[in-house]
Amino acid sequence: MAMDFLSSIRKVTDKPIRFLINTHYHGDHTWTNHLFNAVTMAHVNTRRLIEEEMRINVMGLYEKLFPEIDFSGAKYTPQGLVFSESLILHAGDKTIEIKYIGYPAHTVGDVYVHIPDSRVVFTGDLLFAEPCTPFVLFGSVSGSIEALDRLASLNADIYVPGHGPVSYGRKALYRARDYLVYIRDEAGDTLRRAYHLMKPP
Ligand SMILES: [Zn+2]
Repeated sequence: MAMDFLSSIRKVTDKPIRFLINTHYHGDHTWTNHLFNAVTMAHVNTRRLIEEEMRINVMGLYEKLFPEIDFSGAKYTPQGLVFSESLILHAGDKTIEIKYIGYPAHTVGDVYVHIPDSRVVFTGDLLFAEPCTPFVLFGSVSGSIEALDRLASLNADIYVPGHGPVSYGRKALYRARDYLVYIRDEAGDTLRRAYHLMKPP
């Protein structure tokens, strides 16, 4: 997929890829960093989590869990540049804002990339666009809902999700939010019912 991504970039420009932004630490977003030959950047927690994964060899675990996936060529490449709040890149006449969401959401180191002049936001995995199902196992349901509200408040024309199709307007954000609210409320109700059943009479 990373090779496809690179050849898609080459259809648009032959300029060197100088910077690569990792929105979070997950392997499907970081284990091909070395193919881009660029300065990689991420939130400080993201690099810390990658160091931790290297120490306990999470890649080896995934190879066992998903034997149908070819992991050859995958590699840990911790980021060369980390930040704790935000980073601004000036590229020609465009300002590129990279911002830490500030609380656990998809992970504990999520950043999104906002290009205000182009009205574009790259959400990383803070947005899974339908038909992809939001995945918050390493973060927080309430944090993910809050993050979607924050992304919606940017009022961009185009949201590029971490998974799923590009969203024109905010519809995909609202769909993912509705899903997470449904899960939160159903889980809460079920937990309360279970608690009442367990209570001694
Ligand atoms: Zn992810």
